[in-house]
Amino acid sequence: MQLTQFIPRDAVFANLEVDSKAQTLRTLCDALFQQERSELAQNALARILAREGTQSTAIGHGIALPHAPLTELEQLRCAVGRIQDGLDFGAVDKKPVRLVFLICYPPLQQSLYLNFVATIAKLLRQEKHLNELLEAKNADDLFGRLATLSKLLETPIKIQAVGNDVEPETSAPITSASELFLLARLDLCSEMLETASSGKKEIEQRVKNLSALIDPTTLQQYHRLKKTKQRAIVALENGTCQGCFAKLPHAMIQTIQANKNGLHRCGHCNRFLYAI
Ligand SMILES: [Zn+2]
Repeated sequence: MQLTQFIPRDAVFANLEVDSKAQTLRTLCDALFQQERSELAQNALARILAREGTQSTAIGHGIALPHAPLTELEQLRCAVGRIQDGLDFGAVDKKPVRLVFLICYPPLQQSLYLNFVATIAKLLRQEKHLNELLEAKNADDLFGRLATLSKLLETPIKIQAVGNDVEPETSAPITSASELFLLARLDLCSEMLETASSGKKEIEQRVKNLSALIDPTTLQQYHRLKKTKQRAIVALENGTCQGCFAKLPHAMIQTIQANKNGLHRCGHCNRFLYAI
């Protein structure tokens, strides 16, 4: 996925001069919606702040991914801000946040959002990539480096509505789509737990909370996969499982494409699949 396809160039800041989390979020929201009426930016900010109020979206390693679904939007978009000296976002590893990706997406693009976030995580998991972004000279350079780095992982992407407007963080009934979403979150938290040098208790609590929301059989399958394989949830790209790289049978690809909301597993390696 080419991240910069969803990032307006004028919503990228190499040196955000901010002294609070709220100010950071406001600045990025304003930049993301500067072409629209100001109510949209205000609405987005309110949703994002409400989300942050329940749980910080700082995922550790100096990265935060504040986000909100917005029914007014037609397409996912993201603003990027770098904070030179770092800022306290209440991250689980207590590290100051230096890179913020603020993401707004239409509720129908939940799977696109999931893929967008997974791409950022995959990219910045490698310290040299993170450092490349932190060392960018200016906003143009930062944007350019994001484009180059995401090209490394780029795959063709079809943007499609998934026909599901359930936001998993609300008390809405859990569907299999939100279960996939919860699994992905659990996976991210488990990974953070492995690398965290501090804040482990908080992450453990998150893992517990998420686990309680997931169907016990699914959870058991997930844990079995984690034990034997490095990754339990992978993308289905170009008909190929990105865990074992086996080409899936045509009928199965069709089934998955037809029901992106469902929980699917690779017939070869058993990993959970999400369709792109
Ligand atoms: Zn597989």
